[in-house]
Amino acid sequence: MSFTTLGLSKPILNAIKDEGYDKPTPIQKKAIPVVLEGKDVLGGAQTGTGKTASFALPLLQLLSTKSKKRVSKQVRALILTPTRELAAQVGESIKTYGKYLPLTSSIIFGGVGINPQKATLRKGLDLLVATPGRLLDHVGQGTVDLSHVEYLVLDEADRMLDMGFIHDIKKVLAILPKKKQTLLFSATFSNDIKKLADNLLNAPVLIEVAKRNATAKDIRQIVHPVDKTKKRDLLTHLIKSEKWKQVLVFTRTKHGANRLSKQLVMDGISSAAIHGNKSQGARTKALADFKKGSVSVLVATDIAARGIDIEQLPNVVNFELPNISEDYVHRIGRTGRAGNGGIASSLVCVDELEYLRGIEKLTKQKINKVTIKGFEPDMSIKPEPINNGRRNNKPKNRRAGRR
Ligand code: AMP
Repeated sequence: MSFTTLGLSKPILNAIKDEGYDKPTPIQKKAIPVVLEGKDVLGGAQTGTGKTASFALPLLQLLSTKSKKRVSKQVRALILTPTRELAAQVGESIKTYGKYLPLTSSIIFGGVGINPQKATLRKGLDLLVATPGRLLDHVGQGTVDLSHVEYLVLDEADRMLDMGFIHDIKKVLAILPKKKQTLLFSATFSNDIKKLADNLLNAPVLIEVAKRNATAKDIRQIVHPVDKTKKRDLLTHLIKSEKWKQVLVFTRTKHGANRLSKQLVMDGISSAAIHGNKSQGARTKALADFKKGSVSVLVATDIAARGIDIEQLPNVVNFELPNISEDYVHRIGRTGRAGNGGIASSLVCVDELEYLRGIEKLTKQKINKVTIKGFEPDMSIKPEPINNGRRNNKPKNRRAGRR
């Protein structure tokens, strides 16, 4: 099946052709015709499935066929994303797919100056991609008018709730017109997401696609048992001895990401950290340096890494296992993309054995354990509770609430 049968116009098909896509992905095949029909969508899909194009392409089409004169501060299509990185990527995709159309789009998020955003909003926009907090700042200052929104997309809705944006989202929803077409995308369907969808969507079409790389065969997963105090040395040893050139390393905390990145630099490895406390400029630069290869190790927290699209990443390392088992699947899904083999290594100390059991239960498989010579764990060390800044330290499994 090619894109030409989906009902998209020539300017959009040409832009797709320029990108070199020859056929739609499963979510695109299912979602594009439904969105073009004007129906609400509840989409179960995560980053990497092609979900951005599945809503961006039909929205561009709808907006261009029902073209309207731009009115100052008004927005026709609003796309909400949890993170700045995702907003930037979605905004870029919209520019790419809409490059042959006379539509205007922009991105607004926090951490950067608000005045240039005000100037852009003043002219009115066909599409606006925004993170909820900064959008509400503009609403509060009267620099954006959301009373004429015709299309609303909530991208990665589960992440938005995880990040505590529910009140911000409710505030935004309250000022949008009742009559609009709404698309909600989420990788998981917890009860909170179902509640949000029930309130927001009107007779939605449910579209679910298989989880990308749900610990797929082409990802080699390895656990290296090691003492907590030797993790950094082991990581340096692996990067150097295996000659890893592009490694995404996950830590549990922002502070841990910073510290590890600095230590790697001291070990002679080019590294940068990316997390919510970094300025937008620093995050964008770290990601660009990593993509072009001038930084070989990017140390990230789960939230910062979400939505980052780096193709064909050969190595992912869990410096610490996540306390939410499903985050493990998200993390390792960043390697072995599109049939390119990848290695997901986890450095696991005695404190994390319960997390490991939770992950193995969720993925229904035992992960191969390989002890590295010189880094054998001291079996006399007793496990200690891990401080995640939460009261409950038990491994969590978000699938409990899945449909
Ligand atoms: P997404 O899930 O939207 O983050 O997309 C993941 C990646 O897939 C992006 O790099 C897109 O450029 C790419 N992509 C989207 N649709 C297609 C397609 N039909 N064929 C090939 N690549 C695609």
